[in-house]
Amino acid sequence: MQQTSWDVIIVGGGSAGLSAALMLGRSRRRVLVLDEGSPRNRFAGHMHGVLGRDHTSPLDLLADGRAELERYEGVTVRGGIAVDARALDDAAEPGSTAEPNGRGPRVALELADGERLHARRLLVASGLRDALPPVPGLAEQWGRGAFICPYCDGWEARDRRIAVLAASAAQVHQAQLMRQLSVDVTFFAHGAELTAEARAGLIARGISVEDRAVAAVVADDGGRLRGIRLVVGTELATDAIFAGPVPEPNDPVLRRLGADRAPHPMGGEFVVVDAMGRTSVPGVWAAGNVTDPRSSVPFAMAAGSMAGAAINADLVEEEVRAALAASVRRG
Ligand SMILES: Cc1cc2nc3c(=O)[nH]c(=O)nc-3n(C[C@H](O)[C@H](O)[C@H](O)COP(=O)(O)OP(=O)(O)OC[C@H]3O[C@@H](n4cnc5c(N)ncnc54)[C@H](O)[C@@H]3O)c2cc1C
Repeated sequence: MQQTSWDVIIVGGGSAGLSAALMLGRSRRRVLVLDEGSPRNRFAGHMHGVLGRDHTSPLDLLADGRAELERYEGVTVRGGIAVDARALDDAAEPGSTAEPNGRGPRVALELADGERLHARRLLVASGLRDALPPVPGLAEQWGRGAFICPYCDGWEARDRRIAVLAASAAQVHQAQLMRQLSVDVTFFAHGAELTAEARAGLIARGISVEDRAVAAVVADDGGRLRGIRLVVGTELATDAIFAGPVPEPNDPVLRRLGADRAPHPMGGEFVVVDAMGRTSVPGVWAAGNVTDPRSSVPFAMAAGSMAGAAINADLVEEEVRAALAASVRRG
């Protein structure tokens, strides 16, 4: 089994992971980005709200990012799935090629194919999965006719017939945001319990509330979204659906490391990080959607960039300590 050591291993090559690699590569660090290759927004033809890249392909953005990283000889981006990790004690790893080899946290990582890697620091930027409500036909529309984020895809649905397919009462807010974009918004409660206040707020702004149960999302022969069919058989025409999937962080590596997590207001438990992305585990950082389901592409980039700089600063501090210790030994 191959054993290799790096300054930093980054799990996940999306907007957060590649942005961190850019900062670290520019700091002449040996960086390995491991990427399973399934960014969250891969279903979307176009990406929005990203300055300078509005209405462009999210996959093109990542391809361009990988191409830019080729300038930095210390950075390697390749496929791979991290499945396990453990923090090593703070003794320098035997066989480490990271220089200088000062004392500090070390992390061992295991990949799905059994490969084992060592790094001085680990950044987890592995994103999340959207667990869609189990409505037949919804998954086929994801990123095409059905969306999550009003800021990402709402403008394209302006003045159209918009359906908010609720998974919980939390989506009342989403419906109110969509009302900013169209006068024709229907809130499909789909079993969500609305408070009297929430219901009154929807109706007051002209948002229809449909309490009858939803059976399926319906497409035309070309696969384009046509409407929502109710259990009673009625089909209501719609041009765009905004849904509220449950965010599930891709965090088995962080769990194995025992990083602290906390409930998130949007659902699920997410790893706790400080403003620079540092987790509760020494030597381990996290950035992007794996830390926060609200993190859009610009936020993920900023968090990755911040974490990359913070990790480099942490390594520099370790190297200062090592240099001082060496000078004391030399007398
Ligand atoms: C339908 C849809 C449309 C969207 N549209 C927009 C938009 O228009 N504008 C916008 O700003 N945001 C949009 N978003 C949000 C956007 O997807 C996220 O902000 C962004 O992907 C977060 O970047 P990230 O780097 O944190 O995660 P990701 O981009 O999800 O990258 C994480 C990477 O890590 C990999 N990975 C996961 N686990 C492992 C592992 N164990 N080992 C190795 N690799 C792993 C994944 O395969 C993936 O490649 C949209 C989201 C959805 C669902």
